[in-house]
Amino acid sequence: MFYSIAIDGPAGAGKSTIAKKIAKELEFIYVDTGAMYRAMALYFIRNQVDVKNEDAINAACKKIDVKIVYENEMQQVLLNGENVTGLLREEEVGNMASKTSSYKMVRQTLLGLQRDLAKTANILMDGRDIGTHVLPNADLKIYLTASSAVRAKRRYDELLEKGESANLDQIEEDIKQRDHQDMSRKIAPLKQAEDAVLVDSSHMGIDEVVAKVVEEFEKVK
Ligand code: C5P
Repeated sequence: MFYSIAIDGPAGAGKSTIAKKIAKELEFIYVDTGAMYRAMALYFIRNQVDVKNEDAINAACKKIDVKIVYENEMQQVLLNGENVTGLLREEEVGNMASKTSSYKMVRQTLLGLQRDLAKTANILMDGRDIGTHVLPNADLKIYLTASSAVRAKRRYDELLEKGESANLDQIEEDIKQRDHQDMSRKIAPLKQAEDAVLVDSSHMGIDEVVAKVVEEFEKVK
C-alpha cells in the first residue's frame, strides 16, 4: 500500500510550488494533474477544435493519448508521444484547459491515468478534484487557497520576473473567471472535500505552508 496526499485549490494558490517541495521532503512522487488537462487543451488549440461543440471535443478525445513519464523525478507529459511539458504553462493553454475540463469525456480520459499513478508509488497529487473525486480515500487532503488579489499578484510578479509584460487587473479577472468555471461545472467541480484541511496561504510564506502540510501528514501516517 502506498500513501497518497491530495492537494486541491483554485488557480494560482501555489499548489505546484508547494507540492514539489513537499514531495521532495517526503520523497513522494509529485503528480501535476493540471498539466494533463493542459496537454489535452494544447491538442484542442493546435487542431482548432470548437470548444463549444461537445461532439467535436468527444471526437478529438478519441485521438488523444496522454502519458506521464518521469525524468530526474520531474513529471513529463507526452501528448501522442511528443513531450509537450515545456509548452503547457502559457495563459492561453491554461484558459483553454479550464474551459474544456468541464466535459465528461475530457475528464474520463484522464481519470484512469491519475488513479493508476496512485497505485504505483507514494504520491502527492494536485488539482481541483483529487480529494473529492480522483482519490477519495487519500491519506491526507489539503484545500489550498488564497484571496484572488493575492493570487493575481503572485502570478503578476512571476510573469515580470520572466521578463514578460503583464496587466494585474486582467490577471485577476482571468483568475476569477477560472474560479467560476472550475467551481460551477457539473462534473467534479472544485470544492473543498469535507475531510480536507483548509490552508489559506494569503498571509503565509511558501515554507510555512510546506511545514503545515508536512505536520498534517505526520498526524495521519
Ligand atoms: O492547475 P492548472 O492551472 O494547471 O489547471 C488547468 C485547468 O485544468 C484548471 O483551470 C482546471 O479547469 C483543470 N483541472 C481540473 N481538474 C484537475 C486539474 C486541473 O479540472 N484535477
